[in-house]
Amino acid sequence: YHAKVERDRVSTYAPELDRRTVDRLRLLADLRAAFEAQELHVVYQPQVELASGKVVAAEALVRWTHPTRGLVPTDDFIALAESSGLIVPLTAFVLDTSLAQAAAWHAEGHRIRIAVNLSARHLSDLDLPDQVAAALARHDFPPGALVLEVTETGILTDPFRAEVVVRALRGQGVEISIDDYGTGNSSLTHLKRLRVDELKIDRSFVSNVVRDSHDHAIARSTVALATALGLRVVAEGIEDQATAEALSALGCGIGQGYHLGRPELAEVLTARLEGAAVPGEGA
Ligand code: C2E
Ligand code: MG
Ligand code: MG
Ligand code: MG
Repeated sequence: YHAKVERDRVSTYAPELDRRTVDRLRLLADLRAAFEAQELHVVYQPQVELASGKVVAAEALVRWTHPTRGLVPTDDFIALAESSGLIVPLTAFVLDTSLAQAAAWHAEGHRIRIAVNLSARHLSDLDLPDQVAAALARHDFPPGALVLEVTETGILTDPFRAEVVVRALRGQGVEISIDDYGTGNSSLTHLKRLRVDELKIDRSFVSNVVRDSHDHAIARSTVALATALGLRVVAEGIEDQATAEALSALGCGIGQGYHLGRPELAEVLTARLEGAAVPGEGA
């Protein structure tokens, strides 16, 4: 009887599982080919000084336009890349592309920081610091203007190696930011040991900062902690003016979010940087 149930279960569920697996494998094969086919590109979302409205940095975010599926949700293919090892060439692509772009901005006098996301696996890759150094050298880009965004989860995957990698990167002058701060297993011990440069308050606390007193308290204490530790603090996911003002009032220096600028092609940010450089324009 048991065997029969097992067999039925298999015959009931296997096709569905199969379809999902096949779909995943197909998408993975497509992602592998996407590099060669030049289906990947990078968009840039401005980070804005809340007090002045000035663009001080840009976060590089990867996009994949699949030939038949269209734009694939980033979280989906990042997860696929992470589980397959493709995240290594993907990050190399994003780093190289965004450093080339940021170097061009710098050459035009727009000396903004460029932020690039790292995945958990990179923090246990002892070769990463050399790869980053090589990319910086290739574009003759100042290390201090590169910010690498890591998550608490990434740090906790292998805290010992993460510490070695972060130390080596900071030794080169590269800055480290804790992304989505507050959503992972926030441990002050790690914050203290790792010596990072920036905290990004996660969108989940920022969105309702005006309406939710708990979120407001979390944002306030995060800003206070960052300030006391001498860290820069960035609020992500700012979608309206009231939220921008509330964070600014809490002492948060920098904001990022749809209200301040969407992730866009480089040309769009270039135009904005150039507009800002001309006094009296755009007022
Ligand atoms: P993240 O690093 O926290 O990036 C911020 C995400 O929030 C981006 O989603 C951005 O488009 C979105 N966002 C920005 N402002 C707002 C807002 O005001 N409201 C809302 N609702 N969303 C906002 P995206 O580009 O889809 O990326 C999702 C995640 O995928 C990123 O989260 C990051 O963890 C990862 N990711 C993106 N690009 C890369 C990459 O090049 N390498 C790696 N390893 N991960 C990446
Ligand atoms: Mg990020
Ligand atoms: Mg984030
Ligand atoms: Mg996020």
